[in-house]
Amino acid sequence: MIFSPLNDAHKNAFRSMVAPDRFSTGKSHLNLHAADQSFHAPRRPDAVIWPVDREEVSRILSYADAHRIPVTAWGAGTSMEGNPIPLFGGLVADFSRMNRILDIRGTDFQADVEPGVIYQDLNNQLRFKGLFFPPDPGARATIGGMIANNASGPHTIRYGSTRDCILRLTVVLAGGKVIRIGTRASKTSSGYDLLHLFIGSEGTLGLVVEATVRLSGLPEALSAAVAAFPTLESAGQAVREIIRAGLDPAALELMGPECIDLMNREHRLGLVGLPTIFMEFHGPSREHLETILALARELCREAGSTAFHSGLGREARDRIFRARHELGEMILRRHPGCRVRVVDIAVPASAYSEMIGCAQKEMHRSSLTGYIFSHAGDGNLHVNLVGPKGDDGVWARIDELAGRMVEQALLFGGTATGEHGVGIGKRGFMEAEHGPSLEWMRRVKALFDPKGILNPGKIFLV
Ligand SMILES: Cc1cc2nc3c(=O)[nH]c(=O)nc-3n(C[C@H](O)[C@H](O)[C@H](O)COP(=O)(O)OP(=O)(O)OC[C@H]3O[C@@H](n4cnc5c(N)ncnc54)[C@H](O)[C@@H]3O)c2cc1C
Repeated sequence: MIFSPLNDAHKNAFRSMVAPDRFSTGKSHLNLHAADQSFHAPRRPDAVIWPVDREEVSRILSYADAHRIPVTAWGAGTSMEGNPIPLFGGLVADFSRMNRILDIRGTDFQADVEPGVIYQDLNNQLRFKGLFFPPDPGARATIGGMIANNASGPHTIRYGSTRDCILRLTVVLAGGKVIRIGTRASKTSSGYDLLHLFIGSEGTLGLVVEATVRLSGLPEALSAAVAAFPTLESAGQAVREIIRAGLDPAALELMGPECIDLMNREHRLGLVGLPTIFMEFHGPSREHLETILALARELCREAGSTAFHSGLGREARDRIFRARHELGEMILRRHPGCRVRVVDIAVPASAYSEMIGCAQKEMHRSSLTGYIFSHAGDGNLHVNLVGPKGDDGVWARIDELAGRMVEQALLFGGTATGEHGVGIGKRGFMEAEHGPSLEWMRRVKALFDPKGILNPGKIFLV
């Protein structure tokens, strides 16, 4: 890929497009936009720009395209696969100042937002209207970044991923043209589905400047339960039975014993140090949920559970989920001087228990340190592999092990990435996962971004 280095004329042109405090070549700004939350090596951009409206984004992309300058969008930088790292330098377009909630239409269950809105901030406003935006990746992510990565979270099993919760987008294309895709109707059969093509495209096809999101009603009643199992496989079996029985869980998360130990240590949860399922149910009344929990208890018992605590209210549930969301940070605190590579595979429900068994065996065989946790209801498994910074030998083994787990997931008919996206780390598996259709993805990229200026080096190996 041949791009123009950002020279003084380019910098002056970009600087003139925005207010003086919204363009920077300062070292600290460049460093802040060089790395996400992943283990991938940082790469500094040449400049950072903070647009505040679609006209500015359009002018920026029109100029960048004409001068072959790479532009990488930036939300909050919480990605786990190097997705917003500007691999070829150039310009980072940081959307954090395009963060207005434009309209909340409660009766339509919709809101219009700018891409820099942090999803928790939207939910804080929606709470008063009895509504929420369900995808919840945990980190303080922007809705633009969630759209670009098709993020999901613990509640995806019931409410869907980001892809299921977006109705309409306004997007600026590489040459600066602005298009609107999707509809405010809750369903459509109208033409090619460009909306879902852009969701999950990691800022490689166009930059999102506005989104209409689909909202859900806050449930009248919520209840949670914790069940411990002798093995990860038996826990996996319980997950399958709960889904098969139609209990419609709102969350079904599985933690390995090493994760439970960490969570107990930092959050004093007092859980048994065994493979554990956290489950959450939403419904119209407590009575309704009690019936469901009784059934869940029975199914867990049949799968071999050794402990089942039910009827956890909102406070106990929040403590557990806070600890669950903080696992990544806890692992880093537990291993100072180390880095973490996160495996993010997903497999069909029928293969889930076996996949967990394989991952566990591979980890023991390699004698590497790892933590297994999972959005079990979606068959999405994370293995956080830990190794000392700078120890090339250990890191070669970690990379090899992560690769073997992905290959196994693909053999089961699964995917290399359930929710973190391809970014840098999963590019090498795209051929194996998609075969000849990868070429059609390349053609889509070439159609929307012929000069390849948008987030170059991502999704495809160059
Ligand atoms: C502790 C922790 C827990 C996490 N848990 C989860 C989880 O459970 N589920 C999950 O899915 N993810 C999880 N993540 C990953 C991360 O939070 C998500 O991938 C999130 O969607 C990234 O959003 P962001 O705003 O940080 O985007 P960034 O990381 O800044 O960018 C993500 C991608 O979006 C592109 N982009 C940003 N804005 C735009 C825009 N306006 N238009 C076009 N492209 C754009 C970027 O170029 C990049 O490719 C976790 C991360 C952390 C640190």
